[in-house]
Amino acid sequence: MTSKHILHNFILSIASLGTATSGFSAEPQKLGYSDTPIVPGTQWHVHDGDRPQPRIVTPAAAFSHLAPAPSDAVVLFDGKDLSKWQDAKGREAKWKVEKGYMEVVGGTGSIQTKDKFADFQLHLEFATPSVVKGTGQNRGNSGILLNGMYEVQVLDSYGNKTYPDGQCGALYGWTPPLVNASKPPGEWQSYEIIFESPRWDESGQLVKKANVTVIHNGLVLHHRREYIGDSPHQKVGTFNKKHAPEMFIQLQDHGNPMRFRNIWVRSLGQYDQP
Ligand code: MG
Repeated sequence: MTSKHILHNFILSIASLGTATSGFSAEPQKLGYSDTPIVPGTQWHVHDGDRPQPRIVTPAAAFSHLAPAPSDAVVLFDGKDLSKWQDAKGREAKWKVEKGYMEVVGGTGSIQTKDKFADFQLHLEFATPSVVKGTGQNRGNSGILLNGMYEVQVLDSYGNKTYPDGQCGALYGWTPPLVNASKPPGEWQSYEIIFESPRWDESGQLVKKANVTVIHNGLVLHHRREYIGDSPHQKVGTFNKKHAPEMFIQLQDHGNPMRFRNIWVRSLGQYDQP
């Protein structure tokens, strides 16, 4: 046995020691949770790592990227300033604005619109950091949280597996996207989000669940999908927290320097009520 072989065997023995003592193993890493509640109507746990990974589809180079706002839209961010945004306590938003985009400054908190909207069409573009750091939920994480409650996940899901109900475009903790339409780190990606608020009657009875349609880089991820409730971590969402239909739109600070640009929203209105 050469000294090289001895060294190799030594490394193998250290590795097998690690198996017994620290849980190191060649088994694939667990992606999520199996000790969380079952998502109603499915066989899967909340954040189940064994849930099927959505099919990967390469989107076209551009879909609605840099789409100008139509005449009845409220422009929430035109690349210049954060005047339409504030932090959760109503203070000035502290994220960075440069070169036509805003960037999360980790630790300054999530930001939300000052205006509120009930049933709306939202256009938004984002880019995950071109310098890749972290894995799973720690890589390029943000989110669009309607009323701070109903999340459409934003994550770097390009070659980055995580539990499917937490990947990019997932309705967090509830429904994975129909496909994985993610672009590589640093590239601009588009979201079209059509959202209808939940409604309660005067006695507090839920009469309409929130629903959402999401188009990511030109691919439908959800089609008028009803939320099961809000989007808590490791729990099943509920509609227990009654609120007004008009809601703010929040962008999540999850500590990663995510970028956003070209954000506008328009109310859906109603048929026969021009
Ligand atoms: Mg998130």
